[in-house]
Amino acid sequence: MSDSEPENKNEHNRFWISRDEAYKIGVLEASTYPVIFVDPDAKDGVVDQIKAQMESQVPGLVASIEEIFNKKLHTPSGKPVSDIRELATSVLKERFVVDGKEYGLAFLPTEQFDSKKEIVESFTKNLASNISRAVYENMPGTNNDWMRYIGNHEGTHLQVSYTYPLSDVEILIEERRADQGAADLARERGQGELVLAFKDRRSLLAFYDPTHATTPVLDQNDQVTDMTFSMAESFLFYSIIGVMENFDFSLHKTNGGKAEKSLELLSEDPDAYFEASRKALELLKAKVMKDYNDDQTLLDNQRAVVEAQLRIDYQEGFEDAYRRRVLGQDIPEREPTQLIPQKAEDAYLAKKELHDKMRHLEEAAGRNVTTEFSSYKLKEELIENYDWSSYPRKVEEYDDLTLDERNNLKRYLFLEKRAEVVEDFKNNPSLESFGRAVGLQKAIRSIEYNINSDRSLKGKNC
Ligand SMILES: [Zn+2]
Repeated sequence: MSDSEPENKNEHNRFWISRDEAYKIGVLEASTYPVIFVDPDAKDGVVDQIKAQMESQVPGLVASIEEIFNKKLHTPSGKPVSDIRELATSVLKERFVVDGKEYGLAFLPTEQFDSKKEIVESFTKNLASNISRAVYENMPGTNNDWMRYIGNHEGTHLQVSYTYPLSDVEILIEERRADQGAADLARERGQGELVLAFKDRRSLLAFYDPTHATTPVLDQNDQVTDMTFSMAESFLFYSIIGVMENFDFSLHKTNGGKAEKSLELLSEDPDAYFEASRKALELLKAKVMKDYNDDQTLLDNQRAVVEAQLRIDYQEGFEDAYRRRVLGQDIPEREPTQLIPQKAEDAYLAKKELHDKMRHLEEAAGRNVTTEFSSYKLKEELIENYDWSSYPRKVEEYDDLTLDERNNLKRYLFLEKRAEVVEDFKNNPSLESFGRAVGLQKAIRSIEYNINSDRSLKGKNC
């Protein structure tokens, strides 16, 4: 089937398909589930029209359609589907079940987002208009190529479903998965140049949309972490500072240049901008490698190197995309930066991952102190269930005890509880049971603190 589109849109022939059709083909070749398509451009009575569209594709669906409008359903990036006409191309991350069969839902491209030109403009809107035009002219592929590629991306999203909200890093991981699905399908049909075009699109947009900044981690097995996200979010900022520090703006002025700031230099003399920016990266590289070689065992030194690799990749991705698409230069694709062996990087990331998990659990456990493990609640529970007949002297309730006896009993009960939690952890050594142990530990510390403050109070009174 030909992807080319005739100049005259009325000139339908058997080779011609509409952009919507190209998008649908893209979605269906990636999705592992049947898909319902919804046209967000339905003008009047949009809700009724969309219900009718869906019902005509899958009879019986209308009952669960109400959810789209009543519940707060979302796209994979977390955009609420509150006004579907605001969406460009998208899918719902939730799946619909009718008669036990699962369906994905994809929105057709809106009228504002159904051509190569409109898609290019959507990510060059932060740049000058002449740049936007240059980027469009330096991008390969027809409208239908672009719609099919985007369909492939959205269809890959439809392979998984989840109802919980994703964190920024989880969105970036999911967007890489969708971009990888689209890249693989496009390469299969011999459109490698389109893959590079979409990678460049992501690179140019990375700073403004870090959740979709997938280029340095595409075609790589590298773990995507919060570090990846924060480097995507900040690389341009670092680059701007780097240029300020490594470019002689006053000399530039003496030589007749106009630019006084980094981004002005980028438009006026891109080569000078990228040279200064690269110089900053070289200085960064030299510094982190010196520290790393001084002491490879320090986690801080390992982290600095892995961060620098990512920052270099985002920066170079931006430079190469800018050169190819804005300046029309023929730049070969680079390999990702590898300052230390992949094995050392993986070892650091594994340690970091465990460390992050522990930190999150500790934070969660800290919150639990006020709920499940609150020392007050735990005390109430333990004392309420205490068998007073086993107490060394004859008492009937907690209030019968002296202050010292109360503290000793609390300690005893907490240690018993801790033994139970530790046993639980030994039998089921999961991160969750570890989290419970950490939570209890905090509760015990806070009880100890209270007991000690009781003491000091008692001391004062005496
Ligand atoms: Zn996506």
